[in-house]
Amino acid sequence: MKQSQMSGKVGLSETIAIDEKVKKLRAEGRRVISFGAGQPDAPTPPEVCEAGIAAIRGGATKYTSPGGCLELRQAICEKLERDNGLSYRPEQIVVSAGAKQAIFMALAVIVDPGEDVLLPAPYWVSYPTQISILGGNPRVIPTDERTGFKITAEQLRASITPNTACLILNSPSNPTGAVYSREELEAIGEVVLESGIQVVTDEIYERIVFGDSAHVSLASLSPALQKKTAVVNGVSKAYSMTGWRIGYFAAEPEWAERATALQSHLSGNPCSVSQEAAIEALRRGDASVREMVSVFGRRREQLLDLLRPAERLSLCPPDGAFYAFPDVSGYFGRSTGGTVLEDDLALAGYLIEEAGVALVPGSGFGSPKHMRLSFAASDREIEEGVRSMVAALGKLA
Ligand code: PMP
Ligand code: GLU
Repeated sequence: MKQSQMSGKVGLSETIAIDEKVKKLRAEGRRVISFGAGQPDAPTPPEVCEAGIAAIRGGATKYTSPGGCLELRQAICEKLERDNGLSYRPEQIVVSAGAKQAIFMALAVIVDPGEDVLLPAPYWVSYPTQISILGGNPRVIPTDERTGFKITAEQLRASITPNTACLILNSPSNPTGAVYSREELEAIGEVVLESGIQVVTDEIYERIVFGDSAHVSLASLSPALQKKTAVVNGVSKAYSMTGWRIGYFAAEPEWAERATALQSHLSGNPCSVSQEAAIEALRRGDASVREMVSVFGRRREQLLDLLRPAERLSLCPPDGAFYAFPDVSGYFGRSTGGTVLEDDLALAGYLIEEAGVALVPGSGFGSPKHMRLSFAASDREIEEGVRSMVAALGKLA
């Protein structure tokens, strides 16, 4: 079969691939505990589900405006004002099939083939692929534990060239859990304004922060930064609505207008029923969000405690999102039954076979020394799975 050059370069999303592998093993009757899936385990709040059911019964089953129905875009404006102190009009909002598509639509408007997109690593798996699909070049800015996996303003300044189209900034971060402070963002914001680059901020984990960490939206720091930024968010993580596929971005009217025009030729519009459910999610109280975050906080502690005995593993504790991203390179080169585990992929394979636990290898996130564990799993799964994983690591010679 003839394949386009672009499609030939795109493999299945590394996070989704792990989930698919777990599904396959389970279908074969294997018991596997998954720390792969990046989605809250709680059900979607019942009132939100009811709003979806009412939407079907009430006939909200037809095409909507391509960038999302007006009432949802209004509810998103209210949310951005209430939670982030950001003023937008509904024509500045584009609703897409999940934050994943919203990021792509925002990038599609501003990235030309051959241009560079700055990407702090470790990064979420879909960013470099989306940039490549557009013909752009992902330009990685490496970070590690020494700066809490965050880029500095100096690093950003040194990475910008006349060929830079934009920066993608994800805080709280998937996979590292890093959360940028207001001061760090102010320093980054200065570089953004002096260079004139644009920014796509992925804020999908904004509600999931621990301890003293607080989410700050870069765009909220000044009207000038707001103009330069597309703020991406959605209902997937905060309201446990990953399957409903509703995300959005907010930006300058022209940016939103261009993306809406593109989307009108791609997906047409986001799912009408899901849009009605998302209105309910955004307008109702935040009780379910607070409860979910307190559960994640507890599981985070549980996970950190259980990982402590793994001597060759080191972990920078996450300040947000629901992922731990330990450095597992201390186990590379160790062996099991004569087979040497050379890298993160081999180690992930060993942990599925030996311990029955699925993790996502770090290479997909641009960081092959690490592996990602989602703690959006039940307390029991965390207890059993992490013990089993630590025991398996201890057996490596
Ligand atoms: N950004 C990040 C950092 C993510 O982890 C995810 C994964 N859910 C998304 C965007 C996409 O979210 P959605 O499910 O709304 O498409
Ligand atoms: N974002 C989640 C993750 O990183 C869900 C899977 C995906 O969309 O990549 O695991």
